[in-house]
Amino acid sequence: MITPVKPVTPMMAQFLEVKAQYTDSLLFYRMGDFYELFFDDAIKASKALGITLTKRGQHFGKDIPMCGVPAHASENYLLELINQGFKVAVCEQMESPLEAKKRGPKSVVKREVVRLVTPGTITEESLLDSSSNNYLLSFSSIRSEGSIAWVDMSTGEFTAATCPKLKLVSEISRLSPSEVIVVDSRYDEIINLTKEIQLPITPLGKSSFDSASAEKRLERLYGVSSLESFGSFSRSEISAMGALVDYLDITQKGHLPFLRVPLKEYTDKILQIDPATRKNLELLKNLQGEKTGTLLSTINRTKTAAGARLLERWVSAPSTDLQLIDDRSDSVSLFFNQVDLLTDIRETLKTTPDLERVLSRLSLDRGGPRDLSSVRDSLLIADLLSNILSGLKLPKLIHKNFSTLTGFSKILSELEACLIENPPHLIKDGGFIKEGFSNDLDKNRALRDDSRKIIASLQSKYVEETNISSLKIKYNKVLGYFVETTSNHAEKMFSAEFTNLFIHRQTTANSIRFTTVELSELETSILNAANKISELEREIFNKTKALVLSRIVDLKALAYAVTTIDVLSSLGALAKDSNWVKPKINMSRDFKIVSGRHPVVENTVSNVDGSSFVANSCDLTAENNASQIWLLTGPNMSGKSTFLRQNALIAILAQMGSYVPAKEAQIGVLSQVFSRVGASDDLARGRSTFMVEMVETAAILNQADERALVILDEIGRGTATYDGLSIAWATLEHLHNENKCRVLFATHYHELTATSEQLKGVKNATVSVKEWNGEIVFLHTVIKGSADRSYGVQVAKLAGLPLPVIKRAQNILTLLEKSSKTGSIVDELPLFSQALNQSKNTSIEDPLRSVLDTVNPDNLTPKEALELIYKLKVVHDDEDTPT
Ligand code: ADP
Repeated sequence: MITPVKPVTPMMAQFLEVKAQYTDSLLFYRMGDFYELFFDDAIKASKALGITLTKRGQHFGKDIPMCGVPAHASENYLLELINQGFKVAVCEQMESPLEAKKRGPKSVVKREVVRLVTPGTITEESLLDSSSNNYLLSFSSIRSEGSIAWVDMSTGEFTAATCPKLKLVSEISRLSPSEVIVVDSRYDEIINLTKEIQLPITPLGKSSFDSASAEKRLERLYGVSSLESFGSFSRSEISAMGALVDYLDITQKGHLPFLRVPLKEYTDKILQIDPATRKNLELLKNLQGEKTGTLLSTINRTKTAAGARLLERWVSAPSTDLQLIDDRSDSVSLFFNQVDLLTDIRETLKTTPDLERVLSRLSLDRGGPRDLSSVRDSLLIADLLSNILSGLKLPKLIHKNFSTLTGFSKILSELEACLIENPPHLIKDGGFIKEGFSNDLDKNRALRDDSRKIIASLQSKYVEETNISSLKIKYNKVLGYFVETTSNHAEKMFSAEFTNLFIHRQTTANSIRFTTVELSELETSILNAANKISELEREIFNKTKALVLSRIVDLKALAYAVTTIDVLSSLGALAKDSNWVKPKINMSRDFKIVSGRHPVVENTVSNVDGSSFVANSCDLTAENNASQIWLLTGPNMSGKSTFLRQNALIAILAQMGSYVPAKEAQIGVLSQVFSRVGASDDLARGRSTFMVEMVETAAILNQADERALVILDEIGRGTATYDGLSIAWATLEHLHNENKCRVLFATHYHELTATSEQLKGVKNATVSVKEWNGEIVFLHTVIKGSADRSYGVQVAKLAGLPLPVIKRAQNILTLLEKSSKTGSIVDELPLFSQALNQSKNTSIEDPLRSVLDTVNPDNLTPKEALELIYKLKVVHDDEDTPT
């Protein structure tokens, strides 16, 4: 017999209809106090969250898999799912079951998806890292022009910049967004391009990126007739920005957050640091991908969460704009030079709330009374800051921010008048309006409180009347107020004496419960008062919130001003505590660091064994159009890598506007910083050490310009000695002759030091060591000249290699050294010198050069100049003809 298949229940029909619109998201379907997930969603979520998978009813004869999470604790589950790369559509009940019933006994409660939660669009305080921005980034390309735009929904920051496709990965590594959106037709291409970063990429339809509708969308959002008032944006920038706004609209279901007017960022105003360099220099994350032991963690003295976020932005994007760098460092000087001022400011900033995020929550209608009190407290702090700074001669940047700190007295007095000191997070928790602010509210509160008192006296009255001393008036959600006695008083309570007074409601295992007419009346009045109180409080909250939001643009500016003051003063405190110096930055090609230190290693060295860090100087000052290279040799563990990196970090600090760990520093603005280390195996990415090294070296040789600082640490070590030496040699020559940039080049190929004789810009330096009774002592001092040997065996001894192995190695080394002197082992070094000389000779004999050497342009007539070009062409063509 065939069992008839049950029809789909109305609730399941509703679920399937909603789910069909959100196929790529998990659907959190609200059922009373739970969010429930069904079918595949349930299977995926139960696995991801480690929660039980059960079933609820059947669908076409098959069990429906189901799992659920309690609504009150849903945030953590959401975070876990988002972290694992899921998107979640939150579907809420839009009416109570009672309201639904009114439409007919079989009606299903109305439900709607109110929000799509994705990694780039979260605003919950508990889900966000307070010290990092949470960017949503979009990439658009129109014809050959590519652009990105990025937004932090939790702060309202909104920026666009041109970005050719080739630079996308680099920009993503700079901004480290939580989610990227791209047009669906390019989804596969972008996934492929960014596969090493592994971040959620969301495809969006073409219409979201259409630049004409994007422009209209942006104009509508800001209520302007043309975007030009915000700056001149390219078509692809507009398309990228428009797509972001569209995505926010889709995910927030029309509830757009407050977005600041978009800023255009000019990439040439930012020091270019590619992903490998960021990683090597451990700017924001260490080599293990954690936030400790990084440049940021070492220099972060900010007092506020927003300050920590801004400092992170400064570290990841130092400037090339001399004016901006000077403005920042002048402001740092103000705090550096005035200790009392510094102390006052830092003390005042200590309790600053995260106003940027508070305002965004309020604008999204997700804020509560605690957010309003945060606005109040921020305004009080801004007032204090303004008082501290007033009357002082302020540097330009502080002065600019100073003027946005005040002008909110109306909002402040309103907030102070209405809110209690520490209001709750949620409106529904109530009790956040001060007594005396609203007569109506006070009246209802009195009514509620009086009724409570009356209930207390009613209890005494009933105790007296019944002579049951344990009689209590209690409250629960189901019964409301009730009179309770233990079961052993049943006889008395049900006796004729009391039947008119006590109306039976419930009998439990140990007790009996009643109500009375008087108690019911009191309950109604308490309930009415409580409802009225919540209504009035909500009304006051909304009115005050509207007042705050009416000045949101100015308040955001105030938040930014406080944040900037936090960062600048934190850099002042850092410089003071750590004995740093103000660098001199100009547009020359100087690079002179006197007694520089590594900001991170310095801390660890002095922390661990009490010994202190050895400061070292570096001078890469280059003449116009020429290269300056320091070739650094020295044994392992002597401090070569530390020296290399400290100079790059000093440059980065200087260009973000900070003081630097040195006695003196003079730097001609750098356009790019490259740092490469002979990499360890990167099997996870399926590349050999050597391949990684070469890909990264190629990127430098192809990209470094005259203003670049290049740091190469043991390049070529990933292959056989002679291959490695040859590549290192040719790389050095190319940097010197073609890239013409400032370079620090550490190598264990001592043979390379010979290049300093042929290449004008190459200087040899070494980290000195002392030998003492066969032991090696690291002095960590960088001096001119080259290392006499590698001391590899001594370092191995330090590392604890067994003594017999050390002894044997020492013997072999002596043998090898002897045989190399007698020429019995292959020693190709002279070949390199020859090759170099040859290439030098070739260039002297270059026929084009020979002709040009005889010409003085000042003595040429135009006709002679033309003839010369013909002559050069003939010489050139002859040169190219194969013989
Ligand atoms: P190398 O690159 O030559 O192998 P590192 O730069 O990695 O050497 O330095 C090895 C260790 O020596 C560091 O971890 C640090 O503890 C110490 N060190 C390096 N430079 C200095 C310095 N200038 N002063 C004191 N200690 C240093």
